[in-house]
Amino acid sequence: MIVMKFGGSSVANAERIRCMSELVKAELSRKPVLVLSAMGDTTDQLLEAAEAALKDTVVSMDTVEDLHLKTIEELGLGAPVVEEIRPLLGELRNLLVGISLIKELTGRTKDYLESFGERLSVRIAAAYFNAQGIAARALDSWDAGFLSDAHFTSAELLSESWELIPRALTPVINEGILPVITGFIARDGTGNITTLGRGGSDLSATVIAAACGAEEAQVWKDVDGILTADPRLVRHAFPVVTITYDEAAELAYFGAQVLHPRAMQPCSRTGTPVLVKNSYNPGAPGTRITAVLDKKTGPIRAITSRKKVTLVDIVSSRMLGQYGFLEKVFSTFAKYHISVDMVATSEVSVSLTLDAEYDLRLLKKELAQIAAVEIKTGKAIVTIVGDICRSSNILAQSFGVCAEMGIPVQMVSQGASKVNISFIVNDTQAAEVVQALHRIFFEKQNGE
Ligand code: ASP
Ligand code: MG
Repeated sequence: MIVMKFGGSSVANAERIRCMSELVKAELSRKPVLVLSAMGDTTDQLLEAAEAALKDTVVSMDTVEDLHLKTIEELGLGAPVVEEIRPLLGELRNLLVGISLIKELTGRTKDYLESFGERLSVRIAAAYFNAQGIAARALDSWDAGFLSDAHFTSAELLSESWELIPRALTPVINEGILPVITGFIARDGTGNITTLGRGGSDLSATVIAAACGAEEAQVWKDVDGILTADPRLVRHAFPVVTITYDEAAELAYFGAQVLHPRAMQPCSRTGTPVLVKNSYNPGAPGTRITAVLDKKTGPIRAITSRKKVTLVDIVSSRMLGQYGFLEKVFSTFAKYHISVDMVATSEVSVSLTLDAEYDLRLLKKELAQIAAVEIKTGKAIVTIVGDICRSSNILAQSFGVCAEMGIPVQMVSQGASKVNISFIVNDTQAAEVVQALHRIFFEKQNGE
């Protein structure tokens, strides 16, 4: 059995759904389980409709409604599917009216609202398979065993799901029916709809693959796989052939928007390979994510950057060797709910980065009792992901590049996982640095 997940752009309209179905048909002998995102930009459009409802009393959901009805028509699917989705469209309209009346959009309501995208797309896709003589069944994830906590907008699946999912899906697969499951959404113990965070259908797919012991999880996107750099920054970026779970997770976290950051966890636990493929270019080999790589693989997988980072330098005003300093620093950040990203320490100082804009005034005041605090905004993290411990040259070469360009490196940190080296430069210089690093590590033949 395999899992095939198609993202929004891979099911964006009738034509894309036809292409998707061809890709699935080619794999029927491997017993696929499908996981789908909402069609195209539906999730964003649902959120826009809610924003409009918050401002006004006029409910507008035409874009969403028209896309789905038009797709049904273009796929040649008749009244039965329209009848199947009508109640959902009606429920969505009521919800938007509700939002427009109470002028409130909580996390819980947002998740409920966003769930309509995936619930609509799976019904249309399943109907299309059935119309072509391939027995398929649309399943809302809760009917496929997905049970989450109540952490709305980024819920975690409960461990029971690992048993519930195969229990729900095995009979369907054994009947020879193609399950078409909603990605992204789940339900908590009391029946409220939750979501796994934006882009969460990747995670839905890898959870199913891991829990059901699938041969592999295929994640179909609109790019040729995980790339060596952001192609908008680096013209010669190319797809990475193989990468480890840890490296892929690191990349997702540090700015490559190909995969959901938590999506690697389930398959990394079971060793299930994850294949990232392009539905617009299915002949391309894509990227294969596994536990270990071929010995011949070079040390570096990709270079990424993330902007709008804040750097905080904290220098202890107490004596050298005083204990409890770091504890005080981190508990102060925790107290103000500020999430710390990268950290580098010396005997008397600590530098750390924050990836969002926080109001730091109270924090600064409190820390000032024990340290000199300097806050610098407008920074970027440049991250080199790969088997960093295999080459001490990587650091030397990276700093050489920055030195040549006259760009000061303001902080360096190597994760304990040894799959990334990150350093801080000014926001405005990040692109240049990434381009130069890509040139020396990927465009010239001098990997090690
Ligand atoms: N439809 C959701 C989103 O756009 C989930 C996903 O596509 O993975 O974020
Ligand atoms: Mg989407």
